[in-house]
Amino acid sequence: MLVLEDVNVYYGAIHALKGISLEVNQGEIVTLIGSNGAGKSTSLKTISGLLRPKTGRITFKGADLATIAPQSIVAQGISQVPEGRRVFANMTVIENLELGAYLRKDKAGIKDDMKKVYELFPRLLERKSQLAGTLSGGEQQMLAMGRALMSKPQLLLLDEPSMGLAPILVNQIFSIIKEINAIGTTILLVEQNAHMALSIANRAYVLETGKIVLSGDAKELAASEEVRKAYLGG
Ligand code: ATP
Repeated sequence: MLVLEDVNVYYGAIHALKGISLEVNQGEIVTLIGSNGAGKSTSLKTISGLLRPKTGRITFKGADLATIAPQSIVAQGISQVPEGRRVFANMTVIENLELGAYLRKDKAGIKDDMKKVYELFPRLLERKSQLAGTLSGGEQQMLAMGRALMSKPQLLLLDEPSMGLAPILVNQIFSIIKEINAIGTTILLVEQNAHMALSIANRAYVLETGKIVLSGDAKELAASEEVRKAYLGG
């Protein structure tokens, strides 16, 4: 579905992604793990078109993504939940969700998807008229995910959904990610919480200083000595 081939990304003189190749197949949960500064967020921003590769190819269902505008990438079926949620604080929950559907014209479909988002996140329904800035961190994460789902993506890009959340909320968010996948959305999940990410993913890639150093079946990686030592605290 999504294929990156030998992608190189720079911030000025900083070579942030050094020849990344990876793929995500339809129906999968794939996770990209690695420590701080490894290039995880850079990878997602490059897929969603916010950053451009200097060299390399990115295709989604066979179409070249490297040269089209970010909103066209959304229109093709890819939606990103950014790191740190970035909800619109001065808008209500409903308004934030509606913004997620700004490229769509199918009013009935939008209404239907709003209902589905409220089923996934009942807390958002309870708070639908509340300003997003007054929500808790976990609720804002739910809203950011709900907003991304309102574009009806085929591929959902999640950037560190566990960041700053209490363990109980992390569990809740991860079980919802599994549910979103089960009802038909392919997921590329970036996480520093390797333990949680590997527990729900089918496959995983390990990034270190801009390079993929390991990849494979998530369960096998979670059991491997190398990953346990470096990312799972022994
Ligand atoms: P984190 O979890 O801290 O976000 P990450 O794995 O997502 O880590 P990136 O944010 O992708 O890492 O950063 C990869 C590299 O690129 C790092 O060395 C970082 O310092 C550098 N970098 C990221 N953003 C910029 C920027 N706007 N300008 C210059 N360098 C940057």
